[in-house]
Amino acid sequence: MKIIDIYNKATEPVFSFEFFPPKTLAGEAKLIEAIKNLKVLKPSFVSVTYGAGGSTKDKTIELCSGIQSNFQITTMCHFTCVGASKNDILVTLKRIESEKIHNIIALRGDPSGVGTKFAKHPNGFANASELIEFIKINKFEFGIAGGCYPEKHPDAITFEQDIINLKIKVDSGAEFLITQLFFSNEIFFKFQKKALEAGINVPIIPGIMPITSFSQIEKFKNLAGCYIPDNLVNELDQLKNDEAEFLNRSIEFTSKQCEELLNRGVKGIHFYTLNQSNATIEVMKRLK
Ligand code: FAD
Repeated sequence: MKIIDIYNKATEPVFSFEFFPPKTLAGEAKLIEAIKNLKVLKPSFVSVTYGAGGSTKDKTIELCSGIQSNFQITTMCHFTCVGASKNDILVTLKRIESEKIHNIIALRGDPSGVGTKFAKHPNGFANASELIEFIKINKFEFGIAGGCYPEKHPDAITFEQDIINLKIKVDSGAEFLITQLFFSNEIFFKFQKKALEAGINVPIIPGIMPITSFSQIEKFKNLAGCYIPDNLVNELDQLKNDEAEFLNRSIEFTSKQCEELLNRGVKGIHFYTLNQSNATIEVMKRLK
């Protein structure tokens, strides 16, 4: 089933979870445990990331396929075009199709290596819109999602230009968009309004991640460039040596964030789980 049909037919919020391919056997066991725990929450779909520079291609596809056959959950395969020629991309798309994975999120991707700038493959694509166009021209029948950035993509010169580029992505065939993680709903609503004004009418699904350790805060600020409200940072700073209270406060923040987003009409929430189940389960419990 195409995921856009799930959003279009839904009478209740659509919940989905994101995982990454583990590097070790212990990581794999932990992921299976997390999927088992999260399956109880009846996600409408789950997604599996594609490592930086395309580094986990095989594992991503295997994991999507395994989750569909072992857990009967619809999967969305993350897919990037960084470092890949058109021919490489065609081969990988055919493989995804042959595994009966019907949904992908088509992304430009980033090269591996901190601080390395994206450079187009000489026979590849410069951005996600070009990738999506290619998927369409080659008549693949995937449901296609795209990424979006309420706080602007770091490479974009201006927020306005990023929105114009996002409209091109939707016109190329992205059926819905999932956001980069964010912690300020005000920023999301402003972005949503600007997107609508630019003629972007597809569902924009918030990508949400509960903070589970204090060290994540700097990481999120640096990697995702996202704003975290000062009062939340200060409160979490004071609780950083009390694991239970820290989690309790963080989960309370995320639950309220999701509640407001849902009350104001978003069609679903996509949780970045980091292959852990506890925080997401706790947030979902408080939402019910
Ligand atoms: P694009 O939409 O291509 O945008 C990149 C830049 O190009 C932006 O500055 C944009 O304004 C500009 N641009 C876009 N279209 C045009 C155009 N037509 N003309 C001119 N400029 C244009 N990375 C991974 O490696 N693996 C993953 O699994 C992964 N999953 C992700 C999931 C989500 C929901 C999100 C939001 C991001 C994910 N990423 C992943 C990160 C993503 O690959 C990076 O943020 C990357 O830098 C941008 O990818 P994109 O597809 O969003 O970029």
